[in-house]
Amino acid sequence: MDEQILVTKTSLPPYEDYIKKIRPLWDSHWITNMGMNHKLLEEKLCAYLQAPYLSLTVNGHMALELAIQAMDFPEGSEVITTPFTFISTTHAIVRNRLTPVFCDIKLDDYTIDETKIEELITKKTVAILPVHVYGNLCNVEAIARIASKYNLKVIYDSAHAFGETLNGKGIAHYGDVSIFSFHATKVFNTIEGGAVALHSKEMLERLYNLKNFGIRGEELIVSVGANAKMNEFSAIMGLCNLEYISENIELRRQKVQIYAEELANMDSIVVQKYNQEGVTYNYGYFPIRFLKKDIRDLVYNKLREQNIYSRKYFFPLTSDANCFEGKYNNLQLTNAKTAANNVLVLPLYPELNNSIIIKICKLIKEFSIL
Ligand SMILES: *Cc1c(COP(=O)(O)O)cnc(C)c1O
Repeated sequence: MDEQILVTKTSLPPYEDYIKKIRPLWDSHWITNMGMNHKLLEEKLCAYLQAPYLSLTVNGHMALELAIQAMDFPEGSEVITTPFTFISTTHAIVRNRLTPVFCDIKLDDYTIDETKIEELITKKTVAILPVHVYGNLCNVEAIARIASKYNLKVIYDSAHAFGETLNGKGIAHYGDVSIFSFHATKVFNTIEGGAVALHSKEMLERLYNLKNFGIRGEELIVSVGANAKMNEFSAIMGLCNLEYISENIELRRQKVQIYAEELANMDSIVVQKYNQEGVTYNYGYFPIRFLKKDIRDLVYNKLREQNIYSRKYFFPLTSDANCFEGKYNNLQLTNAKTAANNVLVLPLYPELNNSIIIKICKLIKEFSIL
């Protein structure tokens, strides 16, 4: 049997790099609670992401959940969001006792359709929560205009957009806050981890309190908070991985190019384009969309038979999750449904063997002839 090829493979720094950096922890015994590596990684990521302020968290989900909580919206308020995302996005809204209002997406880049946001705004709307799906950037300018017209907050789930820039500006520049995920499966990882990028010192303080029990001194607890801090082992993994991020992104770009060349001129599929104006990509994902019904699952299964594990990201839509059945409006999501039923994310990571990419493409061609 061939080696198992998964949709991604965690990027690890050279073993010696990591070991060398964790060695001092055995002297200091300071392995969490905002240690020096936590501080250093926050500084380095602020610079790398061009974020005014940044707060590290235990994972991307808690970054999003606490970022929403920090905004202090009245219970039952509505948040306009996309159903074509990882379930975390919707859970973060619901766990804050807010109501997700699902907006359809655009089929060319799978991000929220900004032209359909305004019609969903009601008296209860407080925020827009878009996702830069597969690293395709949302129409941030149009979203900013709508938000300012109706006085709404904009919270970006930038889990897929680590390090991306638009016209030279880091993606965290847009919106009131952006959250990032540093999960093992992402372009940049801290084993588990995440961050909230913010524009104000006041929001940074709130985030700090929310991630550390509201403790501001040995005998001073200023607010109610959870525990969502990043530990030193994770921060060190981040510091190590950050050294290789440019190299890894360049390798990803090369893999994407091979996919694009191999799958060029196929009229039965649409491939991820990477051609948004002014965008530098991180090449985190390579999704393709089948134009003919029922081919996606067939190809998914055929690849599995060859020990190649592509993923149906994102299926089901979060609006169709079992736990939300009958709870929220999931009508008028035509494009999102088309995407969920026909998209397949192919294996992509820096060490992926070129011959495997060619094999995957050959199988796709074989099974997806219109
Ligand atoms: C990975 C991801 C998250 C959650 O991040 P974790 O670090 O796994 O908690 C949220 N939203 C999107 C779009 C993601 O891909």
